Amino acid sequence: MEDKLQVSDVFQAKKRIKDYVKVTPLVRAENLEKLFDGAEIWLKLENMQYTGAFKLRGVSNKMLTTQKEELQKGVTAASSGNHAQAVSYMAQQLGVKATIVMPENAPKAKIKGAKGYGAEVVFAGFTGQDRDEKCAELIKEHGYCLVHSHMDPAVIIGHGTVAIEALEQMDGDMDELIVPCGAGSLASGASFAIKGVNPDIKVTAVEPKEVPLFTEALKANKALTVKMGQTIADGLRISKAEEINFEMIRDNVDKVVAVDEKSIEEALKLVGLKEKILAEPSACVGIAALLENKIDTSKGRRICIVITGGNVDASLYAQLINNVK
Ligand SMILES: *Cc1c(COP(=O)(O)O)cnc(C)c1O
Repeated sequence: MEDKLQVSDVFQAKKRIKDYVKVTPLVRAENLEKLFDGAEIWLKLENMQYTGAFKLRGVSNKMLTTQKEELQKGVTAASSGNHAQAVSYMAQQLGVKATIVMPENAPKAKIKGAKGYGAEVVFAGFTGQDRDEKCAELIKEHGYCLVHSHMDPAVIIGHGTVAIEALEQMDGDMDELIVPCGAGSLASGASFAIKGVNPDIKVTAVEPKEVPLFTEALKANKALTVKMGQTIADGLRISKAEEINFEMIRDNVDKVVAVDEKSIEEALKLVGLKEKILAEPSACVGIAALLENKIDTSKGRRICIVITGGNVDASLYAQLINNVK
């Protein structure tokens, strides 16, 4: 499927979505750098993106490439959080109705977020399958247009814009890009975009050890389902790999790294207290990989880490910062 995609699609997407997404800051993390071996560490702050996460990039590209008549019927999405907010926000921007299907244990901040953009929220079970079934039901009943969170090429390509934007901000001089990985649509799009521009740049995807989806998929050389443990990174709680994401990650990502829960929590504290950046747990796995010595941080390397989002319940954030859990 991705054979048909071109890196020029990412540049076109970047133009298409520019009135709807923010060019987010890229900052050098000087305080974090002191903990490592001399590499430059740059953080791409998608926690400052509209809706508080990078998801708007893919969602806006999808909705802006969908026929108006289709959109007018309303859109629907299954999501445990940030995708929901992006779809709700974009629907509001375009003046169409959004109905979001969420798990019953979705974080309050994310439920409030979607409702705040005027979406209707429907709850369905706890698994991705529960949510997909509910979505299919709504589509059948109302003719809604599905905005899938990770299987749609338009979404994947839209997510790729974050990598291109960061590379431009680094004047084309980047040695490694590190992205969090849940369902793998960000890793798919970002790695596809980066390799299309400069195949020498390394791309690393990081997932929680509790949900080692692409570690296992690459080992087995097929898209599979893993048993899901408990991870604080709620945006990375996806147990099933889809074919398109598996293939793109296999073809373009150099390395998939799995990190411990403890390192994710430590990373969140470091980003918050040392860099003064409010990042949600899922956004901190890249830094967790550095803390676990899984990334080459030798002097002279220029590493870019995507801080993917900042939507976290205040009570959980306070607990994590205080080390009480
Ligand atoms: C969705 C999300 C991810 C993971 O993206 P995938 O495309 O599912 O791999 C990482 N961080 C945050 C904050 C997210 O919302």
